[in-house]
Amino acid sequence: MNFKDKIRNFMIGRNGHDELNFFIIGLVGVLLIVNIFAKKSFILTLALVFLIYSYYRALSKDISARQDENKKFLDTVEPLRKKFNFSKNKVKNRKVYKYFKCPKCGLQMKAPRGKGKILVTCKKCGEKFTTES
Ligand SMILES: [Zn+2]
Repeated sequence: MNFKDKIRNFMIGRNGHDELNFFIIGLVGVLLIVNIFAKKSFILTLALVFLIYSYYRALSKDISARQDENKKFLDTVEPLRKKFNFSKNKVKNRKVYKYFKCPKCGLQMKAPRGKGKILVTCKKCGEKFTTES
């Protein structure tokens, strides 16, 4: 049995790295970079604790518990991810779309640019208003 097979056999029935672990490992990376400047031992300790925790999760045989944790994590970050993607698209499409907020409920909306004055009906609260596109 070669080394690769040994590792594969070892990982059978274990959780492995999931999205939460990649996030934790990313956090460890950020902490290590911060510590280049901050040089505080507690940051290094924290990074080490996170790293050990991520390996504990990856090697855990209680897969359903780890999957629950990962699902909770994904449910928490999903709204943030959507918000981030919306902001990213807003910058990317700023020449094609005009972005504006509903004056009543604050819902973000967009309309193709260059159509002049348009009447908008809010999808969320039904408020009607005009805006320049
Ligand atoms: Zn509205």
